[in-house]
Amino acid sequence: MSGIAVAQDSDATPGSDTTPVLAPTPECGDTEDFEVTQAQTAGPFFTPDSPERTSLLEDGMPGAELLLTGYVYAPNCEPIPGALIDFWQCDDAGVYDNVGYTLRGHQFSADDGRYELTTIVPGLYPGRTRHIHVNVQAPNGPILTSQLYFPDEPANAADGIFDERLIMDVSEDDDRQIGFFTFVVEGNS
Ligand code: FE
Repeated sequence: MSGIAVAQDSDATPGSDTTPVLAPTPECGDTEDFEVTQAQTAGPFFTPDSPERTSLLEDGMPGAELLLTGYVYAPNCEPIPGALIDFWQCDDAGVYDNVGYTLRGHQFSADDGRYELTTIVPGLYPGRTRHIHVNVQAPNGPILTSQLYFPDEPANAADGIFDERLIMDVSEDDDRQIGFFTFVVEGNS
């Protein structure tokens, strides 16, 4: 959990009809700063200039739906609005789109640092456990490149890149999974 205490945000107003989920809000310790999110390799499948969008779903796309949400925070516990968050992942069959932008997209965090991505649970491909790639960058800050993982994934144990600090909190909603993860990145100060 990267040293981040997580509490349900009871003050948050309900989201829109399509976003009934309240993301956990990190609580800052009295003296401790947040630990910056662990960096990981981008791997060979990053494509620059992804489209700006908060849903990577497309008609007929196979796979289990996943809502990935959370916040972008600075180490001083301040939320970071306007942080660039660029996601890329393989499809349900474990294949990346290295020609177009299927399952690739970027967005910017809201005023409270929150982000929300609708996508699918990525498939497995040889040598890796289930994961989602991400670049996160505060305005004028350095780029954090990392990957997010699923709890209780059998392939985690055999993956040399896997890092338990990057496991999402995953719960089940009616017909989709909901993943929570809060990024902590260096700001521009
Ligand atoms: Fe990958």
